[in-house]
Amino acid sequence: MGIIEKMRLDGKKIFVTGGARGIGKSVATAFAEAGADIAIVDLDIDEATKTAKELEENNGIKSIAIKADVTNPKDVSAMIDTVLENFGRLDVAFCNAGICLNIPAEEMTFEQWKKVIDINLTGVFLTAQAAGKVMLKQGGGSIINTASMSGHIVNVPQPQASYNASKAGVIQLTKSLAVEWATRNVRVNCISPGYIGTELTLNSPSLKPLIEQWNEMAPLKRMGRPEELQSICVYLAGDTSSFTTGSDFVIDGAFTAI
Ligand code: NAD
Repeated sequence: MGIIEKMRLDGKKIFVTGGARGIGKSVATAFAEAGADIAIVDLDIDEATKTAKELEENNGIKSIAIKADVTNPKDVSAMIDTVLENFGRLDVAFCNAGICLNIPAEEMTFEQWKKVIDINLTGVFLTAQAAGKVMLKQGGGSIINTASMSGHIVNVPQPQASYNASKAGVIQLTKSLAVEWATRNVRVNCISPGYIGTELTLNSPSLKPLIEQWNEMAPLKRMGRPEELQSICVYLAGDTSSFTTGSDFVIDGAFTAI
């Protein structure tokens, strides 16, 4: 079997949080193209249902939509139950849901701070923990978390201390889980994308006006596209990445290299 065949995900069972749109949807599409069955997990059940239908129609795989708030342990536990009822097992988890608030630190309220940390960091912990419990019992699995280049650098000019702190937390959480679960065949890695064109950036009133400035700063002079994160995630989800765990993949067009 050639390397491309070995990288296929036929029959694997995967959930993707924040899978209704943006990076989650794009990576879920790649997983489906590679042959996996996918649960699209999102707060926005209408959009999640549309995405799941699209994946089924285009790829001949099974896809379901599940409404869940990743900050709510009861939702996360019910989500895992639904995945297991429908798919019977769980091979891969893409813990990707996240938000960004751009507010100067001195003006940020406790509630605003908590919202970002709850979704971006605690949400990743809760979903990775729930996935990990199933995978440890099964004897293996792969967890991929979405961090950000903001876990490495302080983005400018927008003020986003809570976002940056949450993403640095995701990177260290990823490494910690990878070490705890290493000998039990559960791998944990994360991706750290640079600026990617999604609703989060292109349609955010606070971020959209900054795109020209970011592009000027970027070595490639442009933002990334969600599709440019697909192949690394397919690699991490599949069996050819068996020696890859505890790693953080910075995919940023060299933004953090300068
Ligand atoms: P997006 O806003 O297009 O999509 C995020 C999805 O997450 C939405 O469908 C939303 O409904 C869902 N979501 C939000 N809160 C949720 C919750 N509590 N429970 C369940 N679902 C929830 O954003 P995106 O750009 O696709 O971002 C996806 C991830 O990538 C985020 O973690 C983000 O921080 C990260 N990221 C984005 C960029 C970028 O430039 N777009 C760069 C680096 C990292």
